[in-house]
Amino acid sequence: MIHVPSPLRLRLDSNALIANWRWLAGQGGGAACGAAIKADGYSLGARSVMRHLAAAGCRDFFVATWAEAAALMPLPEGVSLSVLHGVGASDMVAARTLPVRPVLNSVEQVARWREAGEGRPCDVMVDTGMNRLGLRIDEALGGALDGLAIETLLSHLASADEDSDQNARQLAAFQAIREAVPAQRYSLANSAGICLGADYAFDLTRPGIALYGGTPRGEAQGHIRQVVYPETRVLQLRTVRKGEAVGYGATWTAPRDSRVAVANMGYADGYLRCHAGAGGGASWQGNALPLIGRVSMDLIAFDASDAGAIGEGDWLALDYDLPSAAARSGLSQYELLTGLGIRFARLWS
Ligand SMILES: *Cc1c(COP(=O)(O)O)cnc(C)c1O
Repeated sequence: MIHVPSPLRLRLDSNALIANWRWLAGQGGGAACGAAIKADGYSLGARSVMRHLAAAGCRDFFVATWAEAAALMPLPEGVSLSVLHGVGASDMVAARTLPVRPVLNSVEQVARWREAGEGRPCDVMVDTGMNRLGLRIDEALGGALDGLAIETLLSHLASADEDSDQNARQLAAFQAIREAVPAQRYSLANSAGICLGADYAFDLTRPGIALYGGTPRGEAQGHIRQVVYPETRVLQLRTVRKGEAVGYGATWTAPRDSRVAVANMGYADGYLRCHAGAGGGASWQGNALPLIGRVSMDLIAFDASDAGAIGEGDWLALDYDLPSAAARSGLSQYELLTGLGIRFARLWS
């Protein structure tokens, strides 16, 4: 096999990932701290995230689907993995074969697991107001779960990133369920929920976005470190004369004779067109390169006029601090990560 280097890369900071996990764990008042690694670890690479966090002491991981779970086999020693979407009829072979628990989400899923789960432990999601996944409270309290070997009983907060009354209502509902439905452990909080206080932590928290550098709420500001640093290589430098335009639709016109760096990245890599005109850009050796013109599928252009002796093949660091990039682009911090595509080489340090 020849080694073909990619002209795009994500530099991934394992120390920052672990520091974020430790900070989140510290907010839980003694609760265990797990990790949501669905969507390939929010695009960082679920297997690598799991390896780094397991080495730091994380024991509980969550993916969305059985295909994601299967791709993580074999699991590191002592690690538990749960599939948030539970078991549909076509999942039962995977669910019986893999050392992974389903998170049962409906009376139908509970029945399926009772019938074909061979008495193995499971997790259960109860809906406390989001109306996305989970048994209704009346179903959970009405006997649907009697006798089931529940490892973790979960619910999920709908508005934890906001100061909403819904948070306290969901907390109260979850406390009531905890009194009524026996399980080994109870788990409510995602990243934003952890920031609401240790009352929300119960036995196990399930952060995702904050592990990867997202700031879910103000309380986390200054505590969460950037983990993901997208970089792209300069493909060409060109001179653009004053009054000439750059890119599709000629949306940027050079206000002076300019140097333009054209780089290997575009919307096919998850760097969407809404970044254009929103004040973002990249940097090279501390020099700022504003993004100019439209984002193409595989290419973007930067004004490199004030960027010093930059040359073809140099690596540009994208402005990708998640809270500020989200505010600028209108994308969520989640979309900024999960859109990052397969053309990025992923390099952990
Ligand atoms: C994705 C997810 C999480 C993690 O949420 P973040 O907001 O990324 O911290 C936790 N629990 C469930 C059920 C999820 O689907």
